[in-house]
Amino acid sequence: VQPSAPVFHIHAIAILEDNYVWLICRERQAWIIDPGASHPIIDYCSAHGFIPRGIFLTHAHADHWLGAAELKQHFGLPLYGPAQMPPAIASLIDTEVREGDSIDLDGSALDVWSLPGHTAEHIGYWLKDGDNGHLFSGDTLFSAGCGRVNHRAEALFSSISRIAALPPETWIYPSHEYTLANLRFAKAVEPNNPAVDRRRAEAQQQLENGLPSLPVRLCEERQYNPFLRCHEDSVKKSAQMASNSTASCDSDVFLALRAWKNVF
Ligand SMILES: [Zn+2]
Repeated sequence: VQPSAPVFHIHAIAILEDNYVWLICRERQAWIIDPGASHPIIDYCSAHGFIPRGIFLTHAHADHWLGAAELKQHFGLPLYGPAQMPPAIASLIDTEVREGDSIDLDGSALDVWSLPGHTAEHIGYWLKDGDNGHLFSGDTLFSAGCGRVNHRAEALFSSISRIAALPPETWIYPSHEYTLANLRFAKAVEPNNPAVDRRRAEAQQQLENGLPSLPVRLCEERQYNPFLRCHEDSVKKSAQMASNSTASCDSDVFLALRAWKNVF
């Protein structure tokens, strides 16, 4: 039975250039998402009295798992991740997880979503906690942007459309602090969208205060993230001009935006 009051707290640990490791905490227990380093996680858990219980990986890129081996050994943790990971990390994964799988977080379910596009094997993790929904989106959806395509742009569009259909109050937890750079592109796509400017001011303030600009609610992203706004005339028009095409369906607009962002 799901409790109706939230029981989890989610913490961000900034590592490497611009990665976030997300810690899903329940009282003193903590589950770790995408540890691209080990020492900052060990230090954080020690400083806050957290006892790690498990590690979850979203995809193959090393900045999301380089710390996993040491954390696994240090705390004796089970490691979960998708199939088709690079051999160096695949051999350490205890449980391969895929779409439809559900991992037990001490009585609450962490659901596995297949979210291909950035990479083929990319997965995300969905946690319903009371009335709050939390999606750990890895490198699929960022604030004001989306992941690069190393797999297939059409797959990324499907994955992002699936996220876009979640309840508006859903919290999104991307793995990178790309918000301000993404907003520069969003501004180029929609120069007259006041929500882009509002979000830029907010993110600047958050970062100046030493805080992440994340997580962010899906209903906010829908107001300024061009990749969630392919149905808007303003976005469509900019995508058509940038691609010198007649892209009109949402998926064609998405592909044109993604190609434009690559050279922006
Ligand atoms: Zn990646």
